[in-house]
Amino acid sequence: MSSINHKIVFLGESAVGKSSLVIRFVNGKFSPSQEPTVGAAFLTKKITIKNVNYKLQIWDTAGQERYHSLAPMYYRGAGAAFIIYDITSYDTFEKSKKWIEELKKLGDPDVRIALVGNKIDLVEERVIEKEKGQEYAEKNGLMFFETSAKTSENVDKLFIEMTQQLQSS
Ligand code: GDP
Ligand code: MG
Repeated sequence: MSSINHKIVFLGESAVGKSSLVIRFVNGKFSPSQEPTVGAAFLTKKITIKNVNYKLQIWDTAGQERYHSLAPMYYRGAGAAFIIYDITSYDTFEKSKKWIEELKKLGDPDVRIALVGNKIDLVEERVIEKEKGQEYAEKNGLMFFETSAKTSENVDKLFIEMTQQLQSS
């Protein structure tokens, strides 16, 4: 059966949960001791929305600074980028803004960008209010989500809404 391919890249500081979100979506699993990604990981997932088949080609990158120079290899040609931060860490939110600036400058001109605050299950430890992320996303014309790879809250939604966005081009 034929399907529409979309290349999607995950960017953001290390330990914000990029790999956990991708693995939750692709395999339906979560590990509290998820191994740090080396370089980048490539996963694919087939989904069907309204009788249309899609094959999502997902690049899960390493967030460490020493891999930063590799990032353009992964976001070039990507139709969509998810920029992840951890709602319990102010630094990761600041870092996500840097990623967005870089993508807007060096990514494909029509790349769809979604800002994603992850780890919303850690209610007590939240330091970035939802409104803060939402406001930044709105100002910069980005989609916005809050997720938990642990509980799976909003994880499917992330991919489904992005795929629908990509389709409405
Ligand atoms: P990455 O470096 O951005 O790929 O982050 P990882 O996926 O490796 O996750 C880093 C750590 O955060 C791991 O210990 C994960 O189990 C944990 N983690 C990831 N997502 C969540 C989440 O939604 N909630 C909680 N509580 N922990 C998470
Ligand atoms: Mg990782």
